[in-house]
Amino acid sequence: MTDPLVARMRPFGTTIFAEMSALAVRTGAVNLGQGFPDTDGPKEMLDAAAEAIHNGANQYPPGPGIPALRAAIGAHQQRFWGLDYDPDGEVLVTAGATEAVAATILALCEPGDEVVCFEPYYDSYAAAIALAGAVRRPVTLRPDAGGHYAVDPDELRGAFGPRTRMVLLNSPHNPTGKVFTRAELALVAELCQAHDVYAVTDEVYEHLVFTDAATPHVPLATLPGMRERTLRISSAGKTFSCTGWKIGWASGPRELVSAVLRVKQFLTFVNGSPFQPAIAIALGLPDDYFSEFRAGLQAQRDLLVAGLRDAGFGVLLPEGTYFVTADITPLGGTDGVEFCRSLPERSGVVAVPTQVFYDHEDAGRRLVRFAFCKRPAVLNEAVARLRKN
Ligand code: PMP
Ligand code: GLN
Repeated sequence: MTDPLVARMRPFGTTIFAEMSALAVRTGAVNLGQGFPDTDGPKEMLDAAAEAIHNGANQYPPGPGIPALRAAIGAHQQRFWGLDYDPDGEVLVTAGATEAVAATILALCEPGDEVVCFEPYYDSYAAAIALAGAVRRPVTLRPDAGGHYAVDPDELRGAFGPRTRMVLLNSPHNPTGKVFTRAELALVAELCQAHDVYAVTDEVYEHLVFTDAATPHVPLATLPGMRERTLRISSAGKTFSCTGWKIGWASGPRELVSAVLRVKQFLTFVNGSPFQPAIAIALGLPDDYFSEFRAGLQAQRDLLVAGLRDAGFGVLLPEGTYFVTADITPLGGTDGVEFCRSLPERSGVVAVPTQVFYDHEDAGRRLVRFAFCKRPAVLNEAVARLRKN
């Protein structure tokens, strides 16, 4: 029999995250591959979910999400970013940011439309673009003289053309930990307006920009002329350490949100009934929760970065997210995939090769990603193992 899988999905195997987590389980290695925390989120949120289950929130919620959660999403964006979205019609609850991204691309892209994105890109983008029959136009992020990943303005300008439908911007950026600068955001905004295209922003790490970042988190939708053409996506998984709950959301102008809902209703329809009221409570936690969460992750970043440098890796300091990328060249490595496949046996640690997130693989061949969303004791153990290597 021939492969039953449709041709457009054949280039996509098992996700690197699933492959590397399975390898960690098989080898007993410390898993710094897939980005998920090893501690639970705020107690108020956990209690609210348990209570919701016991109080009957176990059937389909309304298609766009329960009103209390949509209101909390609106209030949270107003509180932190000064953005106003009407919870009735401009906010949509989704099955994680993953579904929001997929439904948006499927809703807005005709076959052959081009999506400008930045590589290394989050793996689900490539698959969602392919499912829509659209074409990705990746712009490569490259380390600059200051040791940060940067956008080449000419390369970005060159990626926009008559077939461009949207730019897909992830900041803070997975896997590099890059936070887009004001100048980079301004150029993205200028190009979106000049070419009259949409912007779709993936801001799942919006609360993880560290205090030493050159630019704080600036949602693209806050730039002049951008709110009306931007669909802003985020999710609860990272901010509240509940990646398995899969509660995400999209906010934007009514017509865009309504287009995404049209597709989303036939993907999952709805999800996470008892988790929705719990995330509404989490989004309303005092500012201290968000600053302490960030401070904790920043300390974990510092611990892992210092350990990786000690172990001989070339490390680019991330300004945000859960992740740090490390160059394996100083350790004699030439291929990140080979390096990561053998690292559990050699050192008892799992990392993810960044190369799989590039079209121009050479740009990422020697880079690997480590996650620091783990307890300090776990990071210390990983570092001790890597130092012995
Ligand atoms: N976008 C980025 C950049 C991510 O890192 C992730 C995974 N955490 C997602 C989207 C998916 O988010 P969710 O788990 O809410 O679907
Ligand atoms: N977002 C997580 C990461 O980047 C993993 C998500 C997944 O396994 N699909 O590691």
